[in-house]
Amino acid sequence: MEYSNNRKIHKITLPVPGPIGSVHIYLIEGKEPTLIDVGIKTEEAWKSLIEQLENLGYHPCDIKHIVLTHHHADHVGLLDRFPDDVKVYGHFKMDPWISQETTLYKQFDSFINTYRIIYGIPENFQNKLLNINDSLTLSCKRSLTNVVSEGDEIPSIPDFKIIETPGHSSTHICLYRERDGLLIGGDTLIQNVFLNTMLEPPALGETQRPKLLFQYNESIGKLKNLPIKRILPGHGQEIVDIHALIEQQFKKQKKRMKRVIKVLKEKPQTVFEVCTKLFVGFYEIQFLLALSETVGILDLLEQEKQIEMNCLREKWVYQISE
Ligand SMILES: [Zn+2]
Repeated sequence: MEYSNNRKIHKITLPVPGPIGSVHIYLIEGKEPTLIDVGIKTEEAWKSLIEQLENLGYHPCDIKHIVLTHHHADHVGLLDRFPDDVKVYGHFKMDPWISQETTLYKQFDSFINTYRIIYGIPENFQNKLLNINDSLTLSCKRSLTNVVSEGDEIPSIPDFKIIETPGHSSTHICLYRERDGLLIGGDTLIQNVFLNTMLEPPALGETQRPKLLFQYNESIGKLKNLPIKRILPGHGQEIVDIHALIEQQFKKQKKRMKRVIKVLKEKPQTVFEVCTKLFVGFYEIQFLLALSETVGILDLLEQEKQIEMNCLREKWVYQISE
């Protein structure tokens, strides 16, 4: 895979356990080789990474810079295996996640416990919500060496600029090369995937959970205004028709919003009940994704004042606004 005369970009695909299956990370060649994301912390992923780097003529010790697109374990876990002198770049909000800052994870725990009740999640689904301990063992425990924000450059790849794209997570960034319109996109846009956000607790020092679908829409709106020609994503195939995919995203959301209004016109319902109707046949398999998208759609409708949340007979339900 080559995008310029002097710098090659190689896609490395690593295994991820469970329904996700695999993640793409990218090696950018140069005097100081750079990795974009590193993969999940399993022996299989590490073995596969070493093998693929070797095939390209590299060893993990040759990597001098690592840029993390966001904090999810499938993108950051193997960071612990890299030498101490590697520079690690990411959004400032990412650090408490990847360093496994205790206060944040405690906040996460209490967030989940509160929202289990508010969202009306039945007992048999609660263990599908999130197993923090599992995700911690597959993730890293290490800090960023360099914080990056909108417009910043990474010294080893100065032709790329950082674009902040919160939404999929509040920590998400992409790398954009203006010269040829190439975007290394992380999980912001994935071909044929229309569930793009993951519920998060309030950030440290904040009391409200981030409204990630709002942020997501702003971020993809921002990408739509850039002359991006192709996206190297964190999962799935390379994306060339960016505008069409963004349009599809917005259309899908509108359709889901209409469906929720229809469902709530029948009667007031809990978030869980709405989720089961919005994602028939899917919520049982990928509950956290389905729930996160449901919450996002409800946030959008609440913002438009079409619906409101109330406590009726000791249950938190959404209903059509009067
Ligand atoms: Zn992700």
